Amino acid sequence: MSTPIIFVSLGPGDPELITLKGLKALQQADIIFCPATTTSTGKQTSRSANILQELNIEASHIHPFLLPMNKDRSQAHQAYDSVYITAVDSQRQGKRVVIVAEGDAGFYSSVHYIYDKFVATNISVEQIAGIPAFIASGAMAGMHIVSQEEKLMVIPGNITTIELDNYLREGFVIVIMKLSQCKEAVHQCITLHPDYAYHYFENVGTEKEYYTQNRKELIEKGYPYFSLMIIRE
Ligand code: SAH
Repeated sequence: MSTPIIFVSLGPGDPELITLKGLKALQQADIIFCPATTTSTGKQTSRSANILQELNIEASHIHPFLLPMNKDRSQAHQAYDSVYITAVDSQRQGKRVVIVAEGDAGFYSSVHYIYDKFVATNISVEQIAGIPAFIASGAMAGMHIVSQEEKLMVIPGNITTIELDNYLREGFVIVIMKLSQCKEAVHQCITLHPDYAYHYFENVGTEKEYYTQNRKELIEKGYPYFSLMIIRE
């Protein structure tokens, strides 16, 4: 049986927020696939690569692959398919292969598409858990995200004002990921319910980390991709 290909969860950005198990897998890897994107100015960036660098992982082992940031998933799938092919090839040559994901690799992580493909084609594969961004955000603000009988609802950006209102009235604590996709619904909720608590987080675990509960500011500011909100009644 060949060495499994390992999916390592890197955590939200702070290099210390990786598990020991994840770090060991990175240190022992011969080849590490890591997602990268291109900015509007044409520069290649990779938050994952930054984390790997800060963890002193051998640079020659890191293989960034470009992911398009548009909504059309077919281009991303092409990039993933090519990682799949190289990963399988490397594993056959006896190399220890790692694929990294930000936060937790099994939580709104499109790279899991490759994991499913390995499973479907009987390639041995393993997934190492990590800290998702919303958990790191709660810790950063010293929050008890949910307590006792409270229920948690995680929304990946696709919510209307009415749905949001209903969930909050039902007593859910809400986590909104991909916040930029439901800016209007969030603004209206803040206007309708100024008494609720709105915890806004941006770039948690990086030097650009930002946290605020200021409602006026939350209506005026833009929400970048790496932002999320926790709303409590
Ligand atoms: N697998 C990741 C989630 C990826 S989905 C995890 O476990 O956290 C991408 C969304 O996650 C972003 O739109 C944003 O809402 C959130 N996110 C990821 N990293 C973040 C960070 N460092 N700070 C704030 N939000 C973050």
